[in-house]
Amino acid sequence: MSANTKRKANPQEERKVSNNGALYRFSSLNPQTTRFEFGGPWGASALLLVMPLLTLHFAYECDGIHSCTFFPELGQMHWTFENLIDYQAILAYLAWVAYLIALFHLLPGKSVEGTTLRTGKRLRYKLNGLKTFYTTLGLCAGVVITFGHSPFLFIPRHFLGIVFASILFSFVVGFLLYAKSFGSQALLALPGNSGNMVYDYFIGRELNPRLGDLDLKCFSELRPGLIGWALINFSFACQQYEVMGRVTNSMILVNLFELWYVFDAIYNEPAILSTMDITSDGFGWMLVCADYSWVPLNYTLHTRYLAVYPNDLGAVAMAAILTLHLGSYYVFRAANSQKHQFRHNPESADVQGLKYLQTQSGSKLLISGYWGVARHINYLADWTMSFAWSLPCGFGGLCPYFYPIYFAFLLLHREGRDHEKCHAKYGKDWEKYCKIVKWRILPGIY
Ligand code: NDP
Repeated sequence: MSANTKRKANPQEERKVSNNGALYRFSSLNPQTTRFEFGGPWGASALLLVMPLLTLHFAYECDGIHSCTFFPELGQMHWTFENLIDYQAILAYLAWVAYLIALFHLLPGKSVEGTTLRTGKRLRYKLNGLKTFYTTLGLCAGVVITFGHSPFLFIPRHFLGIVFASILFSFVVGFLLYAKSFGSQALLALPGNSGNMVYDYFIGRELNPRLGDLDLKCFSELRPGLIGWALINFSFACQQYEVMGRVTNSMILVNLFELWYVFDAIYNEPAILSTMDITSDGFGWMLVCADYSWVPLNYTLHTRYLAVYPNDLGAVAMAAILTLHLGSYYVFRAANSQKHQFRHNPESADVQGLKYLQTQSGSKLLISGYWGVARHINYLADWTMSFAWSLPCGFGGLCPYFYPIYFAFLLLHREGRDHEKCHAKYGKDWEKYCKIVKWRILPGIY
């Protein structure tokens, strides 16, 4: 779809900047976005409404204490605006973000170079996510040993307030980022410079906004959302313990599965520097909302459901779920690592003998191993793993299945975006590659 707005001249973009002795014009570095994604400004406007409303809907209807229903009967809905503004929740939420920022600065971390930008420059990133994760785990263990499980009940008891705080936070930070992107010498994301305010605010305008050495996008991708997700899951296990005096095996399983997923992502923190989110997308409302609200609050539907409807799994169900999870995780990790090794350590024995297509751009595309089976076999394994997180909740309700349903759409859409990106980057080589590896995600079917 073509942008329907004409670009206004931006004097800042015409300024010449020096980089390694070379002179660039910002207008040529920051071309106007001519293709819209997510349905353009109308799609962006819809998502700006729907994502917060859905998160609020789940906070009301699946609060992990009273109920957990996807479609409550009319007249039975719990929506009330009484407890929406909860100052304790707002303070706790801001304290959580401040704590993560403080750890970023206080804990040591390896300094790693990112991919090459359009300016020819490479940014350096301080990576200490794993230390932040361990510190938070250690603190949680300390709190449990000292005070028991009750401090964690704050989260279930103030859940609606936390959700609302996260939504406010996303809109405010999204606005600040949008305003910041008009600062001098901001390198803009190729998809985020359409000139349409709503669309650019939604998709993210500036590619790598930073405050000193704090890269806001890289920081946000793994910490508030992922560590927050694990923390909220644990608090609903505490809620179940509070009500039942014990924790069911299904609750333990879901907590461990999702904690492991979080650990895996943070353990592989350097790999994030080559993901689409970091290399191509701007940092705007969409990613802020995902990292600070959508992921930590909606991905916890499994444990919220189990806190209301406890489930004891038998040995056969447990073995089947474990097998599905471990098998999926194995393929997910092996496929992602194979590409990472191939690109960053091609001499490694693990990737020797793999076939590849040499492209005109200089990059090589794997055509054997996991990447010869389907172009995104990693997405398939990620999805089957997500399904294994829902199964411990049984089949009594739809809420625990929201994540795999939504995730299927996300991955299909993401695959389409990645396909377009690669087609634009590799041209005829990508078409050749698609003829060799013909399945997109699910071999034999799609
Ligand atoms: P990928 O890790 O699949 O990376 C895609 C990129 O890899 C392409 O743009 C291309 O980049 C390169 N590439 C593609 N094909 C090949 C090939 N055959 N050989 C070598 N390189 C190739 O995508 P994502 O970054 O989207 O996902 C990373 C992981 O994160 C996935 O496992 C995904 O499931 C997961 N994820 C999870 C989410 C969640 O909410 N739980 C959300 C999003 C992702 P280049 O330009 O370098 O060639």
